[in-house]
Amino acid sequence: MTAPSVTRGNKLYEGKAKQVYATDQEGMVIIHFKDDATAFNGVKFDRFADKGRINCAITAHLFDGLAERGVKSHMVARVSDNELLCRQVEIIPVEVVVRNIAAGSYARRYGIEDGTPMEEPLVELFYKSDELNDPLCTEEIAVRLGWAKRWEIAAMSEQALVVNDYLRAFWSDLGIDLVDFKLEFGRDDGRVVLADEITPDGSRLWERGTGRHFDKDVFRKDLGDLTETYRALHARIFGEGSG
Ligand code: C5P
Repeated sequence: MTAPSVTRGNKLYEGKAKQVYATDQEGMVIIHFKDDATAFNGVKFDRFADKGRINCAITAHLFDGLAERGVKSHMVARVSDNELLCRQVEIIPVEVVVRNIAAGSYARRYGIEDGTPMEEPLVELFYKSDELNDPLCTEEIAVRLGWAKRWEIAAMSEQALVVNDYLRAFWSDLGIDLVDFKLEFGRDDGRVVLADEITPDGSRLWERGTGRHFDKDVFRKDLGDLTETYRALHARIFGEGSG
């Protein structure tokens, strides 16, 4: 991945964990990963040293690995420690969650014990709306309410399962079970591409054998030090002393 020279312009948008900036390059934005962490739709907030840099590095690494396997994302290049140059896409307001092991809202919703394995991965859709707390939805509802076209939901679900195969193997090689994760997609020139990020903020990663959490549940559930957790995950991916 080369790092083209690009100049950051005005801030276009600020979300809970990232900022989006205009650039001097047509159709391109810079996404800046913040050190902020939020949970429960912004109710819980804190800031953790290194979080932005680590999430940026992990996203870039995974988007690169996926691109090699034919899954396109909005990412063009990593341009600094905590910034990615990305194609500007129109985010589809439907979040795709893939689950391999029951946990979180799924376990609560259906009264299933955390950690119960699934025979097959499960794809769930959620309407991306802070106001409504990201409610679970179906393809039918997403199409009727105009959030996405039917073919877009099909493309997103299909790509999500390919991403799941890749990520499961990736984390498994590091001794980590991929419990679940969330993806967002964007419209780019009539195509649906992966957007946003793939990070421990939006995934559940449990160490095989110990069950140690390498993800944002450490912050959500006060299980330990999030910076230390993310640094340990970074070291496991990129090697000790990788900074
Ligand atoms: O809370 P729930 O069990 O539905 O979350 C499933 C997965 O999606 C978790 O890995 C969580 O981190 C991620 N997620 C997310 N952003 C949301 C909701 C869930 O990243 N708004």
